[in-house]
Amino acid sequence: MFLAVRAARRRGVSAVPETQDPHVTQPSSAKFVYDFTEGNRDLKDLLGGKGANLAEMTNLGLPVPPGFTITTEACKVYLESGTEPAALRAEVSQHLDALEQKMGKKLGQADDPLLVSVRSGAKFSMPGMMDTVLNIGLSDASVSGLAAQAGDERFAWDSYRRLIQMFGKTVLGVDGELFEEALEEAKRAKGVRVDVELDAADLQNLVAHFKDVVAKETGRDFPQDPREQMDLAIRAVFDSWNTDRAKLYRRQERIPGDLGTAVNVCSMVFGNLGPDSGTGVAFTRDPASGQQGVYGDYLQNAQGEDVVAGIRNTVPLADLENIDKASYDQLMQIMETLETHYKDLCDIEFTIERGKLWMLQTRVGKRTAGAAFRIATQLVDQGLIDEAEALQRVNGAQLAQLMFPRFDLGAKSEMIGRGIAASPGAAVGKAVFDSYTAVKWSRSGEKVILIRRETNPDDLNGMIAAEGILTSRGGKTSHAAVVARGMGKTCVCGAEELEVDTKSRRMTTQDGTVIEEGDVVSIDGSTGKVYAGEVPVVPSPVVEYFEGRMHAGADDADELVKAVHRIMAYADRVRRLRVRANADNAEDAARARRFGAQGIGLCRTEHMFLGERREMVERLILADTDADKAALEELLPLQKADFIELFESMDGLPVTVRLLDPPLHEFLPDITDLSVRVALAEARHEKHENDLRLLQAVHKLHEQNPMLGLRGVRLGLVIPGLFAMQVRAIAEAAAERKNAKGDPRAEIMIPLVGTVQELEIVREEAEQVIAEVEKTHGVELKLTLGTMIELPRAALTAGQIAESADFFSFGTNDLTQTVWGFSRDDVEASFFTAYLEKGIFGVSPFETIDKDGVGSLVRNAAAAGRATRPDLKLGVCGEHGGDPESVHFFHEVGLDYVSCSPFRIPVARLEAGRAAAESKGSDSR
Ligand code: PEP
Ligand code: MG
Repeated sequence: MFLAVRAARRRGVSAVPETQDPHVTQPSSAKFVYDFTEGNRDLKDLLGGKGANLAEMTNLGLPVPPGFTITTEACKVYLESGTEPAALRAEVSQHLDALEQKMGKKLGQADDPLLVSVRSGAKFSMPGMMDTVLNIGLSDASVSGLAAQAGDERFAWDSYRRLIQMFGKTVLGVDGELFEEALEEAKRAKGVRVDVELDAADLQNLVAHFKDVVAKETGRDFPQDPREQMDLAIRAVFDSWNTDRAKLYRRQERIPGDLGTAVNVCSMVFGNLGPDSGTGVAFTRDPASGQQGVYGDYLQNAQGEDVVAGIRNTVPLADLENIDKASYDQLMQIMETLETHYKDLCDIEFTIERGKLWMLQTRVGKRTAGAAFRIATQLVDQGLIDEAEALQRVNGAQLAQLMFPRFDLGAKSEMIGRGIAASPGAAVGKAVFDSYTAVKWSRSGEKVILIRRETNPDDLNGMIAAEGILTSRGGKTSHAAVVARGMGKTCVCGAEELEVDTKSRRMTTQDGTVIEEGDVVSIDGSTGKVYAGEVPVVPSPVVEYFEGRMHAGADDADELVKAVHRIMAYADRVRRLRVRANADNAEDAARARRFGAQGIGLCRTEHMFLGERREMVERLILADTDADKAALEELLPLQKADFIELFESMDGLPVTVRLLDPPLHEFLPDITDLSVRVALAEARHEKHENDLRLLQAVHKLHEQNPMLGLRGVRLGLVIPGLFAMQVRAIAEAAAERKNAKGDPRAEIMIPLVGTVQELEIVREEAEQVIAEVEKTHGVELKLTLGTMIELPRAALTAGQIAESADFFSFGTNDLTQTVWGFSRDDVEASFFTAYLEKGIFGVSPFETIDKDGVGSLVRNAAAAGRATRPDLKLGVCGEHGGDPESVHFFHEVGLDYVSCSPFRIPVARLEAGRAAAESKGSDSR
């Protein structure tokens, strides 16, 4: 029992109570199957994205082939227990009966078979990651019935061979290559190049061959019972949730592992019934730029996945107008209906069967980061959504992507080809032609561009490892394009003039230039251009805008910049969280201010003690007796000058200065170097008293766990005069700024406090120093004094600590380190990959706040601090302050501000706005 509960917990599934039988996880009344007429788009959790949207389209009266959806709940039961829920079979039978009645024919009926597709469909789209089987219901008995009904022998045998091929590979686990080889052999024997040149007799032979392959490889015949085909396909779709590639994709996309997939059983319509049939994909707007228009690809006389797989070359959707005007016009109208209904860009899969249009799928479409911003503002202008909704249509990760540099178009560059701009960005790297090499080279620190004719789901690892992806085939909806966009990776696809030869690991351009493996190439995912060699990069226009070098109001301003400007204005208008910067020099502070910082939340003063000042600190630390007054006196004016600069660049805004924090050894000479020096001097009988004295001191101060040693407030308490000198420098700098008519707003912050007593001692000393400076300079400084909360004890006794603090700033880097017992400098490189692979956490807790553990301490400490002191100011200055998901958490627990590095400020502003808009939305619901 314990193991079952533990296993369930590990998979992120809520564990069943001890008293309950773990196998009975579903109440017997649960409904596992929904007809397309029963669902709607809000049921994505239960019906998956595809099922929910098929239901929505059915209810909108659009031409969707009838069918039903098996819920994700059924899948979860299957994944948990290894068998389908007991009630499933009867429910499927009931819905199949209804479907057969609607269609007027039975599944696999010999003279006129009903055929169905069995498709996966999870809550979140996972393109190409899970299984789909088409043409279920075909058998030796029904293939001639299909031929008679369709009046097309060839079509019937082609459908049958596709079924055996797909079923054999995905359901029965036969190596797909064996079918491919048989197909190639059939073409070779006939002396033709493409599948469509094989006739009915050839395909009939191929079916026999495929059946032999199945029998040989699996030890059983290809199942002839249509219901058995369907049940096995449903089970295969459930199983495909947990394939390695699906798991990897989910980790990448941060999709929880316990959602399961729904299964859609849909009556088949055929795009391969001749030239008046076909299949395609369409977008209601350009997913790369957001522009409205006719975007998509169409493939005549083709079925199912042919378009997405990018195997055969498609024609642009606009050409459909000439091929089949009636279907084209109807499609355009449906696209408009869908966009108005969903109030967003939709992508669509459709099939035309002998001139009749069928909708096979729609969903709110993936888009590039730039298009997301543009579409959000366009929809506001069209009156389809309001500003709060526009904020939900973009996110911080997309904004961060837009801040990447681009190619310098003025630089000399050698363009060698051009493909489709599938996913924006500028990527430079060494050409590699297979995923294995991409992963291997990137592990050894090389930047690589993965070049393939086309990609398939097995290339996922290589795509993750590469800087960018280049393919010579396939359109905007090919596997490479869809997956790269989802990952935010630069991608150029369908660069047909480049001949990619993966076997010889080279690519040849039209003029005969050869790019070998290892040669550097540059690809531009915003224009589709491909260059030989390294093209220099320039900053993005969005960064230029934040820097104030480009104005959104200017007539010639970039559309993207205008959209970003508007969205940022919405975010700033609604957000409650203030956003400050982690900055310790005037240059960073100035940039932070340009990027919208409302102060400095963390100035790490240790950064001011490096370079030549390090030696003064060394002297201070090594002083035997009282503080080395001389060293302190030398440091004081230097520190003061630092603060004056900082207060000036942040005039009128709060600046939190943290007193010295890092472990002592960071200021001391390396123990090994020093030992060698002493040993050499001794061997040579040279004078070495100073080094010896230094070595003894370094030994004395050496710590096994410096991060848990003499640092932070502990340092201030044992090195007399150190904190007092820093406080004096801050106070004098503030006084001088005041006297110069400035508006300094310094906040003094004590690091690594574990108990209120530490804070009280430092506070008393600091207050004395401040009072002295106020007196000598004749000004009132109004300096505040607070503490970091970065140790569990501090968080647990926050109520007491608040008695002596004007503010708290959560140091979530150290708090994560100490709550988990993870050495922050070591663990990410040493074992986090294994932890991520095992699903212990989906993302490093140093990146996104661990809400249940560290976050719970933050929540409770914030509440306890405010209970003692209602006006206590609360902020966070760990790395999490600039992480989108964490910003939402800090909003929710009521902090006043987040502080992050200057470049992340726009992202934090946007996410703070999104968090506020979201919580307002849920308050009013
Ligand atoms: C922290 O611990 O979160 C923090 C901001 O301090 P530092 O990273 O400098 O230890
Ligand atoms: Mg810290």
